[in-house]
Amino acid sequence: MSNDKQFVKEITPQGEDFSRWYIDVIKKADLMSYSPVRGCIVFKPDGYEIWENIQRELDSRFKETGHRNAYFPLFIPESFFQKEKEHVEGFNPELPWVTEAGGEKLEERLAIRPTSETMIGHMYSEWINSYRDLPLLINQWANVVRWEKRTQPFLRTSEFLWQEGHTAHEDEQDARRETMQMLEVYRDFAENFLAIPVIVGQKTPSEKFAGAVDTYSIEAMMKDGKAVQAGTSHYLGTNFAVAFDIKFLDRENQHQFAHTTSWGVSTRLIGALIMVHGDDRGLALPPKVAPTQVVMIPIGPPKTREQVISRVDELYAQLKQAGVRVKVDDRADQSPGWKFNEYEMRGVPIRVELGPRDMENGQVVLVSRVTGEKKVVAQANFVEEVQNLLAEIHQQMYDKAKTFRDEHFVAVDTLDEFKTFLEGKRGFALAGWCGSNACESQVKEETGATSRNIPFQPEVTKSTCLVCGDAAKHTVVFGRSY
Ligand code: AMP
Repeated sequence: MSNDKQFVKEITPQGEDFSRWYIDVIKKADLMSYSPVRGCIVFKPDGYEIWENIQRELDSRFKETGHRNAYFPLFIPESFFQKEKEHVEGFNPELPWVTEAGGEKLEERLAIRPTSETMIGHMYSEWINSYRDLPLLINQWANVVRWEKRTQPFLRTSEFLWQEGHTAHEDEQDARRETMQMLEVYRDFAENFLAIPVIVGQKTPSEKFAGAVDTYSIEAMMKDGKAVQAGTSHYLGTNFAVAFDIKFLDRENQHQFAHTTSWGVSTRLIGALIMVHGDDRGLALPPKVAPTQVVMIPIGPPKTREQVISRVDELYAQLKQAGVRVKVDDRADQSPGWKFNEYEMRGVPIRVELGPRDMENGQVVLVSRVTGEKKVVAQANFVEEVQNLLAEIHQQMYDKAKTFRDEHFVAVDTLDEFKTFLEGKRGFALAGWCGSNACESQVKEETGATSRNIPFQPEVTKSTCLVCGDAAKHTVVFGRSY
């Protein structure tokens, strides 16, 4: 499926082949193109605009919580990676190297950043001298590269766009407070902006970030029952501070290592949006993130066309004035029916229809992308009705995704029970886990599912390990993932 020119005529139904459905939708909605470089995609304007909306909203939330943006270099000297042992072991297999530049072999190889803890750690050791310099709260919007073996548009690409927050603090307590605060920013953003319900919790040691003391994540369920790790927040302890000598004079004039954190979300969120909300008709975008929230389509015979269009233009101006992202499609060479399908496929939350009869009655028709319901409203209340419907659609999309997740989420006592569940249905399982790597690996070997996280608020708690039957240390969410 790498031929971009291949025209997607029909979207493959989700129930027939979910992966095909996903590719069909993103191509038909014109969100991206495959690039000539393996695992790298081109974000086309309709896809990039979704990212811009994500960026804008998150950026304002980061600033509200006291962070500022900065930018660090793309290239990282090899010696930086050697300084933190776990970090280098974790990232080495995925690093691309620049060995030659300007026609000469470099004295030291440069990695293309997979994440910037090392570069930023190096800089923080220069910038931080006293407790007065702390906390240091910085975010970077950037591209990073991880040479992934398996790739999938948006969800897992070799180069991706993201933000990475990097903060330094006087003590563990303050750094942990920051780690949790940013996790909560992500949860709230996922649920209240993207309408994606998430499970908030801690990663097991085998799944944590290379070099972190503790990793926390938000996990979402796609419509094929698979998981997407939608965001992570790490408490790094003093690991990077020791490696990069981020020291400061504390309030007692003693040298101390700073405690650092990092946290990130990526363009993977676009993939999650598509897989959580999309359906057999195509994309369905939650109103707050949708590049176009409302499309207005004039209908009716040629003789009333001009009159209808001029009323549409007036109503358009009112919506625009109210800050709604609205578009008019008054092309005469496409039928209204074609347009209805087109904007449904593109996931526009509300379609507005206006014809001669609506003009006579002083009304206008609103159609919801998610429910397909038509609502006839008075033109006098147009803006208010649209705004109310946008809010309603957000809630319906969230509820629908949550209901789907609840219906595909079980609690199990044994590995056999989990296997049986996976054969019949797709989804997640809550299960007890003794804490051993061996039992966690066995779940993966026998089911293909990994531990997603140890949820802070599990629906039930389990007292025995699903594999060995010993006392459970934690109740864990298991699921196959992207
Ligand atoms: P990490 O630095 O590994 O904690 O990842 C930070 C964020 O980037 C997480 O939300 C991941 O889900 C996301 N991410 C990691 N690898 C990729 C990838 N290859 N493509 C897209 N997003 C990714």
